[in-house]
Amino acid sequence: MSGSVRAVVFDLDGTLIDSDAPLLEAFVSLGVPASTVTYGHAVAEECERLGLALDDYVAAYDTTAAQPFAEVDEVLGSLDRWAVCSNKHPASGEVELERLGWEPEVALFADAFGWRHKHLGPVLERLGLGPHEVVMVGDSDGDLRCAEEVGCHFLWAGWNDRTARMRPSGEVLARPSELLRRLGLG
Ligand SMILES: [Mg+2]
Repeated sequence: MSGSVRAVVFDLDGTLIDSDAPLLEAFVSLGVPASTVTYGHAVAEECERLGLALDDYVAAYDTTAAQPFAEVDEVLGSLDRWAVCSNKHPASGEVELERLGWEPEVALFADAFGWRHKHLGPVLERLGLGPHEVVMVGDSDGDLRCAEEVGCHFLWAGWNDRTARMRPSGEVLARPSELLRRLGLG
């Protein structure tokens, strides 16, 4: 990774916060079999696939449940510039950012992408940075795709057990603090 990285763009669910369980519980409470739930999709598209009303899903999701992964708070506090790029409903994600006291320079949720799968273009535009000036950190294939589409560096959030079990190709960080070392900050 080059020394020209000016900002880190994070996925939220499963990357900064350990949200698999509350995401799953919301689907299950609406009658979706747990075995059919997967992660990393645009929330509206996933609700449509599962035959759910988006508003019902948002109401069922407990915005108080997900906690940050270990070390994430400290790592975010060490970064000058960081952003969130998430497929989550803004009504869920914005409340969680506020609860956690996190103030990313840019935080874009599903509404910013027309409720389709997210992409990095609008995030880069708001940051005023090019793809070689950011690194993306995520836990799903969709996150990797976002990075590949614009040609920015991508790091896997391997501290999420689900991601580690995928054994993804590419660079996998075992802990959030490894990110600081990669950026020359730790
Ligand atoms: Mg995710």
